[in-house]
Amino acid sequence: MYGLGILKGLMVTFKHIFKPPTTVQYPEEVRPIPARARTNLVWFEERCTGCSTCAQACPDGCILVATSPGEGDALNIDRFEIDFRICMYCGLCTEACPYDAIQSGGTWKDVTDDFDAMYRDKDTLTKFAHDHLKENDFMYPSGQRAPEDVIELIKREG
Ligand code: SF4
Ligand code: SF4
Repeated sequence: MYGLGILKGLMVTFKHIFKPPTTVQYPEEVRPIPARARTNLVWFEERCTGCSTCAQACPDGCILVATSPGEGDALNIDRFEIDFRICMYCGLCTEACPYDAIQSGGTWKDVTDDFDAMYRDKDTLTKFAHDHLKENDFMYPSGQRAPEDVIELIKREG
């Protein structure tokens, strides 16, 4: 029948007119974001052994890990850096890490127009990690609680 398609289209329109909107008025309103969403990468130094598995798993070569011999079999992590200028947030590094030291999650409010600021060194990554723990009741994105010595350290930082 001529016009049937138009009628069907209008029916859909009318059905949706009376439904509440599904959009939110960002930035005044912010939709809840799951803790493990791939909003960012968070690196937790206290969990990291410096094994470099994450760096080897990264297809883009974004992660730099530099170590030196520490006490016993342990390694000192001299440098841990992530180049977010070329990161595609695929999460392969987080899957490769045997110790959950790098996890998907963290802030999505670190937008910057300074391209080079997206290269983050150990200190910047640690600040992000501590901010994440402070804002999330000292829970890692994986749902585990941070160890007490780390919690104390973060509380002392203020
Ligand atoms: S999320 Fe992907 S691209 Fe980014 S650092 Fe990890 S492995 Fe590399
Ligand atoms: S983040 Fe994980 S995989 Fe990467 S160096 Fe540390 S322990 Fe190894």
